[in-house]
Amino acid sequence: MAKVTIDSIGKTFGTTTVLNNINLEIKDGEFFILLGPSGCGKTTLLRIIAGLWEQTSGRLLIGDRDVSLLSPRERNIAMVFQDYALYPHMTVEGNISFPLRMSKMTAEEIKKRVASVAELLKIGAFLKKKPRDLSGGQRQRVAIGRALVRSPNVLLMDEPLSNLDAKLRTTMRFEIKRIQRETGITVIYVTHDQVEAMTMGDRIAILNDGVVKQCGTPFDIFHKPVDSFVATFTGSPPMNILDTPYIRKQLGIKEDVLVGIRPRTVSISPVSGGAVVEAKHVGTDLLGNELLVHTTVGDEDFVFLAHINDRSAMGDKLKLYIPQENVYIFEKATGKVVRYGLAE
Ligand code: ATP
Repeated sequence: MAKVTIDSIGKTFGTTTVLNNINLEIKDGEFFILLGPSGCGKTTLLRIIAGLWEQTSGRLLIGDRDVSLLSPRERNIAMVFQDYALYPHMTVEGNISFPLRMSKMTAEEIKKRVASVAELLKIGAFLKKKPRDLSGGQRQRVAIGRALVRSPNVLLMDEPLSNLDAKLRTTMRFEIKRIQRETGITVIYVTHDQVEAMTMGDRIAILNDGVVKQCGTPFDIFHKPVDSFVATFTGSPPMNILDTPYIRKQLGIKEDVLVGIRPRTVSISPVSGGAVVEAKHVGTDLLGNELLVHTTVGDEDFVFLAHINDRSAMGDKLKLYIPQENVYIFEKATGKVVRYGLAE
């Protein structure tokens, strides 16, 4: 187990800068998430940590040791990939024990370690099977088992659940968290899925265009986003960001700023201290027990969530009640947060 220090790491491919001066300190035993849109540099950073790619500038420390120039093997890091990368001709047992056999460990010690990992991952029943005879979720467990069997200091995971269906993803999210808690291993986990990030991470770093936009707990990232990019990257559906003079007027905002409102904080019943905003009803999607209501406010699109029982109250024109404390104000030019809530 170890902390990981990413110290001013940069990466360019030719003239393209993919990572720009990344500084992060991942604590020993932390479940740390790298979250961002496609192409923001998450995988590049993970591969640099693994030692598969070399950074253009900066240093990487594992514990207090500078590993910038060490090979992947010397770093004692393991990585789990999206596509599992199992050896198809080997059994589950063969796949898991492979890294140990390469390290010339005794047969007895190998057996002990495979049994312990199989118990941790609940894969003891299919040790003699080949990967093709397993489901996607079982294969992913085997891939995690193979990564953990060497007792690495750090476990890197690159979108490990994206090939699984929605139900299995939910189960595996929980399982991976359990495994991390039981082993106490430091995990760095790449995803573009904000639900994975919010539910699994102790802390999250949000990347965009090769820079860290914000690093913090899921609570901070959600409730105290530093700018409109971070604000719209968490929560489903994402926060509405409005630039219409009408909404500023209704909320009593004097400055020329962007107004952020999360869809779940809007109500069609009066709330005390809530600003009233008129909206044109455009359409409604039924989401089980909830309604996703599409409207326009001023001339901008605005969505909010309502209870299914509110369906009968949806006329062409809607009165929306917006609690003042739930409004976010962002600078127009930079998107940076000016304040949370309308109170000064
Ligand atoms: P995704 O979620 O789609 O995997 P990502 O955030 O992991 O995206 P990276 O794979 O790290 O992003 O890629 C970041 C940027 O670097 C992309 O614009 C990509 O085109 C570029 N890139 C990656 N590898 C190379 C390479 N070998 N040569 C040139 N550009 C590259």
